[in-house]
Amino acid sequence: MRSLVLIGHGSHLNPDSARAVYHYAELLRKAGSFSEVIEGYWKEEPSLRQVLRTTRYSDVTVIPMFISEGYFTETVIPRELNLGHSGPVPPHGITRQLGGKTVRYTQPYGVHPRMTDVILERAREACPDFSPEDTGLLIIGHGTTRNQNSNRVIYQNRDRIREKGLFKEVHALFLDEDPRVDTWDTLFTSKHVIMVPFFTAEGWHTQETIPEELGLNGSRTTFTDHTVHYALPVGTHPMITEVILEVAQDAWRTSSASGEPSPEQQAAWDTFLGLAREGMRLGEVLIRQDVGLYTLQHMLDEGKDQLQVFVSPESLRDLVRISDSGEYRPVHTFRNLPRGWKAVFNEQDFRRAISYVYPSVIEDTCLYQKGALRVTPWISTARRQTGIYTRVQQATLKDVDQVSKKICGFCLKSRLWYGDTLYQTFLDGVPGAIPCVEACTYVISEVREHVVRKELAQQKETPAQSAR
Ligand code: SF4
Repeated sequence: MRSLVLIGHGSHLNPDSARAVYHYAELLRKAGSFSEVIEGYWKEEPSLRQVLRTTRYSDVTVIPMFISEGYFTETVIPRELNLGHSGPVPPHGITRQLGGKTVRYTQPYGVHPRMTDVILERAREACPDFSPEDTGLLIIGHGTTRNQNSNRVIYQNRDRIREKGLFKEVHALFLDEDPRVDTWDTLFTSKHVIMVPFFTAEGWHTQETIPEELGLNGSRTTFTDHTVHYALPVGTHPMITEVILEVAQDAWRTSSASGEPSPEQQAAWDTFLGLAREGMRLGEVLIRQDVGLYTLQHMLDEGKDQLQVFVSPESLRDLVRISDSGEYRPVHTFRNLPRGWKAVFNEQDFRRAISYVYPSVIEDTCLYQKGALRVTPWISTARRQTGIYTRVQQATLKDVDQVSKKICGFCLKSRLWYGDTLYQTFLDGVPGAIPCVEACTYVISEVREHVVRKELAQQKETPAQSAR
């Protein structure tokens, strides 16, 4: 019995950012190789700090859904998961015993050798009848000067494809580091050049930056000396599902042991399902059970007709990401759950639906009530930050209070990490009583913005004061 956790970056601003991870999680669920497949994010929920608590089994494989190694896969994810590791992840991954679970953390899927096949498939799609004598291949990577490992995978793929001798020439160029992508026409002598973006998904870079920098107008562009065939990004190819499965299988090679149901997780859901069967309110949601089916709806819609009916957890997940006024809801316990819907599920789908509507709330609340979930005070959260978020260490407690009062005031959860108290929870019949044991990344991000704004204001004031 194994849990697979796919880790994405997520976003506080863009509701589409999680789409690729959701997509692969759905495909892998259907493939049925894992007892469960769940998603976790840096900037969405369940967060990296929560996600391991939400896994149902004691054998957990965690795969970063990133195209290359870098700051997130080497620093942020291991730190937030408490893996006690920082730096490059070895090819066989890292295995840790955490909270009674065996956690296998792998390299990002993008560095798996099978990605070479994905690049070649994308190239064939872009130019199906290319001939090796007059066709070159360009792999386009993002690149960054901040992490020397991030471009390594691009060069490895370039070298593997060169060895195959399928193209007259194979090169790798980058958007954000040398050698730059706009130098491509000084390198290639082939009449046909197939360009394959080594990116996770379609987006600003694949659809705007690259075409604009290179003067491409669609999938085929004719220049004086070359015809360019522009491929789709590798990260959206259906073969990626197979790559993810291979990454997981590689991680299991270090141990054949399989997992069991996690007793804490099972106890949490047993408690919750017992209450749900009787009918209950959780946050803004009203839950009823009848003839084995669970019904969810916004509690303010109780007794209303003509509600839109949902029967799949995924469609409910997509609905609750946006408020009635069209705002993205990166924090699911914000008090703006949309209204006008009703969802009906069997028990298995109900569990998943609740985890989409209020990620990690069942597990965290049950553990908190048992005294098995420690509160992480702000000072510890601030000290843990790296990169641009180390700025939050300069925030005073007054700054943190000011920012979090505004944001957390709009959230159902009680900020125990700032000293608020909670004597009862929704498990005791108080629907909006949900513990928040540590500041979420949304608040961390806003505290950082506050510090930056304060520093800028002080810088503006200083010359004026010294002139007085
Ligand atoms: S830190 Fe504040 S906004 Fe974030 S989840 Fe906790 S209570 Fe809600």
